[in-house]
Amino acid sequence: MVNGKFIQRLVTPLSPIFSQQRLISWTNRRLILPFYHSVSDDDLPFISNLYPLRSLKQFRADIEYFCRHYTPISINELEKYKMDKSGDLSPAFHLTFDDGLKEVYTHIAPLLEEKGIPATFFVNTDFIDNKKLFYRYKIGLLLEEIGRDENNAKALEISKIVQQNSKWHLDCRSSLLRLNYHDQEFIDELGDALGLDFHQWLQENNPYLTTAQINELIDRGFSFGSHSCDHPRFKNIDFDSQKKQIEHSFDFLKRTFEIKERYFSFPFGDEEVGKNLFDWMEKEANVGFSFGVSGLKDDYTLSHFHRIPMDMCSGQTEKFIKSEYLYFMIKRIFRKNQIHRE
Ligand SMILES: [Zn+2]
Repeated sequence: MVNGKFIQRLVTPLSPIFSQQRLISWTNRRLILPFYHSVSDDDLPFISNLYPLRSLKQFRADIEYFCRHYTPISINELEKYKMDKSGDLSPAFHLTFDDGLKEVYTHIAPLLEEKGIPATFFVNTDFIDNKKLFYRYKIGLLLEEIGRDENNAKALEISKIVQQNSKWHLDCRSSLLRLNYHDQEFIDELGDALGLDFHQWLQENNPYLTTAQINELIDRGFSFGSHSCDHPRFKNIDFDSQKKQIEHSFDFLKRTFEIKERYFSFPFGDEEVGKNLFDWMEKEANVGFSFGVSGLKDDYTLSHFHRIPMDMCSGQTEKFIKSEYLYFMIKRIFRKNQIHRE
């Protein structure tokens, strides 16, 4: 199967030919939902070993571009866009941020307020107040530790342990990146083997938002939603666990912050999530909107929106957003612009 990102890269050089306005009217895609994890000028090794981050300067350029071509809207206004078939609505964008990281409070919110741009922050309820560290960030820290060791003795040590336990026969880095939600004990053991105390690291670095910061951001008008309790990949957990992750996190948000609206962003996206969960979310769990990470794409239900992963934009905002539109047009020719679910 041809990789979608490869096609998108292939069409990127065509992007200067078409104006953003023209692409919007050709595709009739008036709503875009750019999403980020964090934005930072500092190296955040727990993230940068996993995926790139936009700098503050790049983030400013992003929002300037969005504001030039789209109107910033709040999450409540998505309701009218989900039914938009007429093409009468003006182009709009809503910004979202996953994982509840502290830069949302220290850098992102002040910048957005300066420009009058609303946003929604999706948090993992188990991680608020730096109570627990996401297993994937632990892998990021392991990779950092291994990369820092000049003699590579630690890499060899970890390699040996990883490979003894691995079914993939890959190099150390790739094997570490393959570890999942069910390997958390093993990831902790690897930390111990490297003398890396995740708990201590968490206390010293405080990567997550605190309860006080969330309360303040709510008072300042930002919206919050759930990103599950502790960030499992949903295709790796059973239906009951999926429901518990959603229900428990919403209960926590209501109890702690009096958040009644139920917005949910799937951790790692919604790959292979079945219709049964979407039906349950809509009919029983009263989830208002949910969000995936597949760029410009339609889905099984109108209440589920796909967002554009801006962390993956390595250069100019304009090229990146236009290439999303061009890729959408290609997908539409082959009827691949809609996700089909079992
Ligand atoms: Zn996430």
